[in-house]
Order: sequence, then structure tokens, then C-alpha cells
Amino acid sequence: MDTNARIDALVLGCGPGALSIASALGKENLKVGILSETEPHKPWPFTYGIWGEEVDQLGLSDLLEHRWSNTVSFFGEGSKHKGNNKNFPTNHARDYGLFDKVKLQQYWINQCKKFLVTWHIGKAIDLKVDTDISTVTTSKGLELTARLIIDATGYKPAFLQIPDEGPIAVQTCYGIVGEFSSPPVDEGQFVLMDYRCDHLTSNEKLEPPTFLYAMDFGSNKFFLEETSLGLAPPLSLEVLKSRLNKRLEYRGIKLTKLEYEELGVYLPMNMPIPSLDQPILSFGGAAGMVHPASGYLVGSLLRRAPVLAKAIAKSMEEKSNSPEKIAQEGWKALWPKELIKKKALYTFGLEKLMRFEESQLREFFIQFFKLPNNQWYGFLTNTLSLNELINSMWSMFKKAPWSVKWGLMAMQGKELKLLWKFIKP
Ligand SMILES: Cc1cc2nc3c(=O)[nH]c(=O)nc-3n(C[C@H](O)[C@H](O)[C@H](O)COP(=O)(O)OP(=O)(O)OC[C@H]3O[C@@H](n4cnc5c(N)ncnc54)[C@H](O)[C@@H]3O)c2cc1C
Repeated sequence: MDTNARIDALVLGCGPGALSIASALGKENLKVGILSETEPHKPWPFTYGIWGEEVDQLGLSDLLEHRWSNTVSFFGEGSKHKGNNKNFPTNHARDYGLFDKVKLQQYWINQCKKFLVTWHIGKAIDLKVDTDISTVTTSKGLELTARLIIDATGYKPAFLQIPDEGPIAVQTCYGIVGEFSSPPVDEGQFVLMDYRCDHLTSNEKLEPPTFLYAMDFGSNKFFLEETSLGLAPPLSLEVLKSRLNKRLEYRGIKLTKLEYEELGVYLPMNMPIPSLDQPILSFGGAAGMVHPASGYLVGSLLRRAPVLAKAIAKSMEEKSNSPEKIAQEGWKALWPKELIKKKALYTFGLEKLMRFEESQLREFFIQFFKLPNNQWYGFLTNTLSLNELINSMWSMFKKAPWSVKWGLMAMQGKELKLLWKFIKP
């Protein structure tokens, strides 16, 4: 059975997920098309951060707009007096970078051009998968055929089937880029998480904790983002905005010039892995690839796209392979058992963190960042093997104070289910 499809793979979407997999498939000499609602250069709305080592290993450090070596977090209670020991910093002793998102987008677009990826503009509204060909129809009635469809349409995917595993924990954030009456963070500094909470009333401290993610952009410009790590239902942007204002007011800092607002309304942290028996594939946020502990995705896209692309190309060598068969081999490459198990552990950890009250959460992170540098880094970038991940979680548990240990041991909600998924993926 040979296919009549015009191309090998049609990728839906044009965010980081779609562009990374389309260019990787092109590199494998496949005929690739992209169908996107918007034109290719439409600016992406978010800022994309990444650890220095990740981007160096990928050989893409020239795509960074900013890079910091002074990288810290604050997990003390906080005090207005700078020298007070409640303001002690946790030094991360490793670089962090922020992508120049125009360059990152252009990098992938150039790769797509180089590998002759074709581009169609339109919204995918219908999908039909036969034994030899897959067809997507757009809202304007255009029909596009390919051997394989890859749905990379983000967190509310067009066609992908995703099992319902209960409420989705959503990260929300309210960010501003601007100038301030005095520097909100030290010169040349990047702050991963500032959980100091001395600006909150005792009642506010009982509400879900939020932290400040902040960076010095140079030339008197700073990026500050009040963030809720993950919550179901999510924390609203109004709450985050008022928390950020309160934090600044308390320290006597005024915003003097607002350049840009980042509205992070929906970043699902524990999106389930899609059903692995469906006849289409997926990549990016839609495919459950966001790191449940950090919300990061870009490093993982860059590492995992070539692996998936190779598996698809190999399966396509067999001309009689149906779209379903190719998709299944793709799913196996994207979600091998080890990664499914790791995702179950991370999601279990997230469930725990969402239940922690603010002082417990601060204690937890103090302990977490006492792990050897390579261990916490590997945890946050999902680059540890399963055994290394288990070891790091176990060493952290052993050293944690009892307030944190109890929180980690008490099983609530879907935690047992997640542990079971880890045992039997
Ligand atoms: C506020 C915020 C901050 C983040 N910060 C970071 C960070 O610092 N580092 C990091 O690694 N990750 C970060 N992420 C996570 C992740 O990198 C982004 O969410 C990323 O944009 C997800 O990429 P994606 O391509 O999967 O989905 P999206 O970027 O959502 O792209 C989906 C694409 O599909 C298109 N589309 C949708 N429906 C259709 C349809 N029916 N037909 C055709 N096209 C369609 C859309 O137009 C869009 O182009 C952040 C996320 C958020 C929300």
C-alpha cells in the first residue's frame, strides 16, 4: 500500500513546538509542511528563559539576548533591612540566559527554509486519518494531505486526544518590563525565585504563595514577574498584579516607565501525556512536554525533536507503514517508559508543592538547592536518568526538616494514583 500523500508530515501550529519538530523532520530529508493560523513571523508573546549549560550544550548560546552569572533565589522570610539574615540569598552558581525570542524564532524559520518546509496559513478544523493518508481541512476549505499529522497547536490542541486525569495545575504570571525609581534587583543579577513574604499580612500569607522572577536587563531596565508556580484553579492575574505592586511599594520602589506587560494566563504544568494509541502525533506543550516542576519547555524541545524526527524518518522508510503505525513508533520515541515514569514523579512532586503553605515551601526550596549543583540542575532540566532522579529526591527527603517530610509523606488527592503510574506506567 503506497500513499498518495503529497508530503510526509504536516505540522500544525507555528510556536516553538511546531517549528522545532518541523525543522528536525526537514533535516531528516522528509517532505514537511506547516499549517499555521498566523504568519510565520508573528511575534511570540512570552519570554523564554534557559540555563546557560543547556543552551551551551545545544550550541545555541548566540541566540541569547541576556546572560547572567549572578543568579540567586531568596527563600528567607525577608526583611526591609538589606543586611538582615532573613534576606539571605541562595546562590545558584550557574549561568542563566534569556533567549532573544526574535532570533530564536528566526533560527527555526531559517532551518525550515533550508530544508524546504512548505508553509500554509489557515486554521485546522477537521482531521481524517485513513489507512494510507491523513487529511486536514482548514476553515477556508483547503484540504492538505500527508502521511503523518503532528498536532503542535499548544495547550488547547486542535485534534489531539488527551486523557482526563483531573484538574490541571496552571502556572500564571504577571510580568512587567520597565524602569524603576530604584533598582528592584542588584545590578547584573538574575533572580529565579524570590519567595520573601514580609510584604504580606498574616492573612495573605495563608493564601497560595507566589514568587518574584526578576532580571536586570541593563540600561536601567528590569523585568519583574510575579508568578504562581501552579494551582488548580489558577491564581488570577489581578491577584498577581496586586502582589507585585505590594512587593514594590513595601520596599519603596516605584515603576517610572512601563515598557511591556507579560500576561501569563495559561501554562498547564501537569498536562497529561496524550493517548499513545492515536493515529496522529504531537510535539510541544500539546504533547505534555512542559516540565511539571518549572514550566520550562524550550530546552526539552531542542533536545527531543531530533530523536523524534529520526524515529519518524525510520518508520517512513517502510512505504507500507500506515499513519497509525508511524504515529505509534513516534509516540514510543517521544514517550519511552523511562520518561513516562519521570513525568509521573515530577507531577507527584508538583501535587505536593501545591499543597505546601508558604513557610513549608520556602523550607522545601532551601533543601532542594542544597542538593549538589548538578543534581538540582538535572532535576530542573529533566536531564537526569530515572535512577539519578530517584536518588536526588531521596537524598532531599532524608535531609529535609520534619515539617517538609510530613508534607511529602501525607498522601492526598491524586498522589497515590501518580505513584502507581510511576510503578506501572
Ligand atoms: C507566560 C509563559 C512563560 C513561559 N516561559 C518559558 C520559559 O521561560 N522557558 C521555557 O522553556 N518555556 C516557557 N514557557 C513554556 C513554553 O515554552 C511556551 O508555552 C511555548 O510557547 C509552548 O510552545 P508550543 O509551540 O507548544 O505552543 P504555542 O506557543 O501555544 O503555539 C501553538 C501554535 O499553534 C497555533 N494553532 C492553534 N490552533 C491551531 C489550529 N487549529 N490550526 C493551526 N494552528 C493553530 C497557534 O496559533 C500557535 O502558533 C512559558 C509559557 C508561558 C505561558
